[in-house]
Amino acid sequence: MSILNSWWSALSGVLFPPTCPVCGAALESSEQLLCPHCMLLAPLTGFWREAINPVTERFESEVRIEQGSALLFFVEGGGWQRLIHGFKYHNRRLWARRLGRWYGKLLRESGLYDDVDCVVPMPLHPLKLLWRGYNQAEYLADGIAEELGVKVDRHSVIRSRFTSSQARKPHRERAANVEGAFAVRHAERLCDKHLLLVDDVLTTGSTLVACIEAIAEAVPDARISVAALAATRHGVNLST
Ligand SMILES: [Zn+2]
Repeated sequence: MSILNSWWSALSGVLFPPTCPVCGAALESSEQLLCPHCMLLAPLTGFWREAINPVTERFESEVRIEQGSALLFFVEGGGWQRLIHGFKYHNRRLWARRLGRWYGKLLRESGLYDDVDCVVPMPLHPLKLLWRGYNQAEYLADGIAEELGVKVDRHSVIRSRFTSSQARKPHRERAANVEGAFAVRHAERLCDKHLLLVDDVLTTGSTLVACIEAIAEAVPDARISVAALAATRHGVNLST
């Protein structure tokens, strides 16, 4: 770090002291993501410890996956939604990377993801990437890959068809909206690999299913696991 960078870092710490993105409390260090209180009360799923869990059960009738998990339950309104929307829509890329590292550490400790060969972020269509300026899933993937000690593959799986947002669509229309929306460009790179597909929020899972189908068709011998940062309770069929 140059002298100018260290100077700016020290000054910005005074002018803009780091705060917890969930509750707004002051953080002791700019290296922290969350305050101890929010770490303790995080709506964790615990799914990463179980080979069979609501995420794997969500996919089993439609596609074959090796492992599946979500770190958090998506909690509407309040600080946890602000955290997720912050990195998804408002350029808080560092939050995504730190969440990825937190998640990656837990995935590593579970022992279920030991033979993952590379991490694949859910791709955005180039137009959406241009509009948003970044793909939030890549930052999550970077953090997870760092903890798992593997590489990120950003180029082999692409979003080949632009689709309108899934957010306001009825569930029955979501699968049709994303059917055929993904393609594999470099199948040879993925041959015989165990891929960990990373996404931000699992709602109905239709987008992940479409992406998994595209990979499985292009690279039949690839094994695919799924790591969503958050899952809605409805998405994983938990109503409580
Ligand atoms: Zn907090």
